[in-house]
Amino acid sequence: MIRRRLVIVGAGPAGLSAAIAAAEAGLDPMVIDENPRIGGQIYRQPPPALPPEGGPPLSSAARRGVDLLHRFHQLRARITVLTETGAWGLFPPRRLAVHATRGWDTIEAEQLILAPGAYEYVPPFPGWTLPGVMTPGAAQLMAKTMHVRPGQRVVVAGTGPFLLVVAEQLHRAGLAVLAVVETVRAVEAVAALPRLLGHLGLLGEGLGYLYRLRRAKIPILRGQVVTEARGDGEVREVVIAPCDRDWRPDSSRRRTVMADTLCVGYGFVPRTQLAQLAGCRMRFADELGGWVPEVDEDLETSVPGLRVAGDGGGVAGALVAQEEGTLAGLAAAHHLGRLDAAAFARARKPVLRRLRRLRRFRAGLDALSRVRGGLSALATAETIVCRCEELTRAEVETGLTFGGTDIRTLKVMTRLGMGPCQGCMCWPAAARWIAARTGRSSAEVGPLSVRPPLTPVSLGDLAREPGFADGPAAEVAP
Ligand SMILES: Cc1cc2nc3c(=O)[nH]c(=O)nc-3n(C[C@H](O)[C@H](O)[C@H](O)COP(=O)(O)OP(=O)(O)OC[C@H]3O[C@@H](n4cnc5c(N)ncnc54)[C@H](O)[C@@H]3O)c2cc1C
Repeated sequence: MIRRRLVIVGAGPAGLSAAIAAAEAGLDPMVIDENPRIGGQIYRQPPPALPPEGGPPLSSAARRGVDLLHRFHQLRARITVLTETGAWGLFPPRRLAVHATRGWDTIEAEQLILAPGAYEYVPPFPGWTLPGVMTPGAAQLMAKTMHVRPGQRVVVAGTGPFLLVVAEQLHRAGLAVLAVVETVRAVEAVAALPRLLGHLGLLGEGLGYLYRLRRAKIPILRGQVVTEARGDGEVREVVIAPCDRDWRPDSSRRRTVMADTLCVGYGFVPRTQLAQLAGCRMRFADELGGWVPEVDEDLETSVPGLRVAGDGGGVAGALVAQEEGTLAGLAAAHHLGRLDAAAFARARKPVLRRLRRLRRFRAGLDALSRVRGGLSALATAETIVCRCEELTRAEVETGLTFGGTDIRTLKVMTRLGMGPCQGCMCWPAAARWIAARTGRSSAEVGPLSVRPPLTPVSLGDLAREPGFADGPAAEVAP
């Protein structure tokens, strides 16, 4: 077993900022991440063999990423980084079980910061399992990071500003972006503008994406929803229909677009499984993407010494993640005696001020693209809902009829969420169906129960002695 004073799970904006703040305060944190390189989702770096993202000028987000990685690497001598190392278990209060290609081990942390980010939400709809249908994040990974075109003719659909980012990146990568299909109607977007004026910089970034898509003559279809992907063995057609305020499609007015790729995503869901395993008290917060751990002002959960930062504690974007990471790193350093009360108070004050402003902006944005009930109408009886267990909607509905009126019971009755993804793909939609069908709130429907291992680990690997065969994996210098 490895013992460390401060361990951080996740090397995205939140985890890196936490490590920077803690190292600057004199700690020697350990950061683990399942990816081969640090940066998380937004600042994901290409494999060392590939050149970095080309094509000047760098976007503001990319510049922020370069800056953050640079600051991190300046403190690298103080920070242990274990890449390609996934945490598959957390045993209370703060003992992680981690797995890598070179072995497995447990890590006991005096202070633990969870910064695991979020995953994309896609409600099941007919054809969503066809090859060629993917999340915007997957297409972004291929085009931007791996320099692989996911297809030729693409429709980008769902909700939120991330669609604009990905549509522009795919256009730049040489794909024909046929349309961006956004469920939020134009009048709603315009009505939300005053609430977004508090952060002109971010608003400007969003409008910049809109402007560049318009200049490239990419249509943005508002108040519309993708209802189906069709094709024999792969996507050939995407069916689009106008939707009402609740995002319920009007299929009588549907039309078809010929496309070989469909990127579809309706925002993000926090990755809370590690916090759940630790026994953190949870609450349901629709505006933050679903179930999140309860935290105090310094991001400490109900488990002493365990903090969550970034999208894993509630989806609020990279800038909030960065500030929360800094706050969590400072708080851990204070707790471990590296910052006295006065120094901690001085350092956290401006962070809290910036966080308040950023969270107000996010609240405006999130109110606009919060997932609405009409999407539940997309899946038909034959639509696969749980991809791992190949359960159809009809089978899930049968479970509901026979008493699966909370998500845990439904899981036991139908095997929903018992496959390798541990319910990440299916439970948000299933929980919404239960709530709609029973008239209960999402809080009453409950979070999906989680069990280790969170990700598949072979028994052969676990049968080996704990320990890493060749020491920690080294992060490649920039
Ligand atoms: C696929 C995807 C693409 C995105 N692209 C953009 C974009 O282009 N522009 C934009 O503005 N926003 C984007 N976002 C949103 C933005 O990335 C997030 O708001 C921001 O990165 C949150 O930072 P974070 O540090 O909380 O999490 P992340 O950046 O997600 O970092 C979390 C890290 O934790 C690691 N991790 C998670 N669980 C474990 C575990 N059990 N063991 C070990 N490591 C673990 C992950 O590998 C990841 O590297 C994207 C989000 C996603 C999901």
